Amino acid sequence: MTGTIFDIKHFAIHDGQGIRQTIFFKGCPLTCWWCHNPESQSIKPEKFTRVNKLDNKEFLKKVTIGYQVSVEELFKTISGDKIFFEESNGGVTFSGGEPLMQSEFLFEIAQACKQNGIHTCLDTTGFAPEKTIQEIAGVIDCFLFDIKLIDNEFHKKYTGVSVDGILRNLKWLDKNHKNVILRFPVIPGITNTEKNLNDIKAFIATLKNTHHIDLLPFHTISKSKYKRFNKEYKMGDTPALSDDDLLLLKTKFESTGMKVSIGG
Ligand code: SF4
Repeated sequence: MTGTIFDIKHFAIHDGQGIRQTIFFKGCPLTCWWCHNPESQSIKPEKFTRVNKLDNKEFLKKVTIGYQVSVEELFKTISGDKIFFEESNGGVTFSGGEPLMQSEFLFEIAQACKQNGIHTCLDTTGFAPEKTIQEIAGVIDCFLFDIKLIDNEFHKKYTGVSVDGILRNLKWLDKNHKNVILRFPVIPGITNTEKNLNDIKAFIATLKNTHHIDLLPFHTISKSKYKRFNKEYKMGDTPALSDDDLLLLKTKFESTGMKVSIGG
């Protein structure tokens, strides 16, 4: 069996516990306005021209984002870092894009890791059929689960999909004592509004076993990627968040009893 990925990051430290190897799956059913990885959204490999500069001369290079890899090849790459995982209580993190878009491939590779004692994290939007989430929960040690907008109409407007199934899946994981760390992308004027913050806090209060949230700040460094990939950038001149704004938000979430980290 093969899957399509677009990057592998070794020695990652923000995608779960310990030292991790992060595998970026290509393809995402959402189209978030603020997406920092627009090259991850299409499941198909995409070509673009990279401009390299040397001694004031420009060199153009055609690059393809995304490639096919088999379960066996990928497992070999993941196992290469096993010694670092063991030393640091780390492991592998499946990220994207949305790995659940390739759920059969994800299941196979996560199962191979589990069977060989490698800790598995899934960084997910939670947008998948209930059956898929429930099956994958058997081979995932920790879910890094996005929580963006609670209002369904806003969720559809800013991400392109309904939030109802996402919240149902999150509740199922929580009810079944799965290890979940919430991830809240802090997007000025979209997710970081008084109403959405209150809605999120009210939703979190209904969870019984989920006590940790990461705040992921909006930044503007991906703006140029949209031009390169010929995609529309909808965030206009929205500025990055200040450290003060983030600290204030951290305090607000801490007041609900949650453990709060900035940046994962
Ligand atoms: S869920 Fe993540 S990868 Fe998918 S569009 Fe949104 S920000 Fe991008």
